[in-house]
Amino acid sequence: MRKALLVLMVVALLAVLGLPLSCLPNDDGGGDGTGAVEGETIQTGGFTVTLGTPEVDFPESMEFRVQVEGGAEVTGISLQYRMDRMGIFPVTSVVFPDFTPGVKTTAAWTWDMEQTGGLPPGADLTYWWSIEDSAGHRADTPARTASFDDGRHEWRKLDGSGFTLYWYKGDDGFAGQLVDAGEEALELLAQDIGAAPERAIEVYIYGSTGELQGSLIYPDEWTGGVAFTEYSIVALGISSGDLEWGLGAMAHEMAHLVVHQVTMNGYGVALPTWLDEGLAMYAEGPLASSFATVLSSAVRQDRLDSVQSLSSSFPAATEAAYLAYAESYSLVDYLLERHGGQERMVAYLSAIQGGSGYEEALQAVYGLTPAGLDAQWKSYLAAGSV
Ligand SMILES: [Zn+2]
Repeated sequence: MRKALLVLMVVALLAVLGLPLSCLPNDDGGGDGTGAVEGETIQTGGFTVTLGTPEVDFPESMEFRVQVEGGAEVTGISLQYRMDRMGIFPVTSVVFPDFTPGVKTTAAWTWDMEQTGGLPPGADLTYWWSIEDSAGHRADTPARTASFDDGRHEWRKLDGSGFTLYWYKGDDGFAGQLVDAGEEALELLAQDIGAAPERAIEVYIYGSTGELQGSLIYPDEWTGGVAFTEYSIVALGISSGDLEWGLGAMAHEMAHLVVHQVTMNGYGVALPTWLDEGLAMYAEGPLASSFATVLSSAVRQDRLDSVQSLSSSFPAATEAAYLAYAESYSLVDYLLERHGGQERMVAYLSAIQGGSGYEEALQAVYGLTPAGLDAQWKSYLAAGSV
């Protein structure tokens, strides 16, 4: 094993230089066969296995270690893991860490999030090791769970109805107001669009936008909140001076989770952006005046975007994005006000969940094409109902 050889050479060099071995970088490819593994020791299928407690270096990586002793040379070690997330089919991943075959050996694997994309704080997973030896014995260790926790902060916890809030900066009143905003959003979603969370939600409040971004791999510069829809986890950066914005953001991101939960199907979730963002904006309550102003001036100047263009991703430029969010809110509001309220919206979301494309579902439930919706919505706005 080349990596093991390299490590031995480094050890030899350090010994010559008289440096302490603790300076050694983590052998993240694993498997020099010498490092002790600390953790629970079990007997399984004739093997003695020590399961190292997974080590999280949030948000960059998570390391798994195992030590195996068999009656014959251990020739195969693989790690299997499954993320606890929503989906029709559970997905199990398998990795084969480097290790040196031997009667007693260790293996380690580091999950490098910069390679794979990040995980949300608090993401849970189940893992187990598969082992085999040269005599043909094979065993799987019992499944264990681990959490990708952000241990850099001292999280406090407050339970809301349908979700749990974690925060570390600000007093109880600050957290209490956020919980109230989350509960109001869930009530509004249940009442107006018949959508309730199907799975408990976790909300992580970072102390600022900067600290939130420090928890993400490759964040966008403007990200103030993220909904990890498959994990039912929301992460927000809210300082106490920004609470007013934070209350809306809380409602907005929770709405994304709930809407994705009720529309998820085996084909993935394919919501037009205006519907996804419009429902999230709707959950925040009445349209804020900054958005309303942008919307009414676009109506006056006859430069509204089309429903078709609002179905794909939104523009990056601030002003154009503002308008797109305001238009999305207005479209959802229009459908709820003028086209059958909650009942139709529920039917629309379940048609999408049932596998209809959004256009097909729009036709089936509202009797409208995207162009027809576009025309009706625009004349409704032009008639002065903004
Ligand atoms: Zn959004």
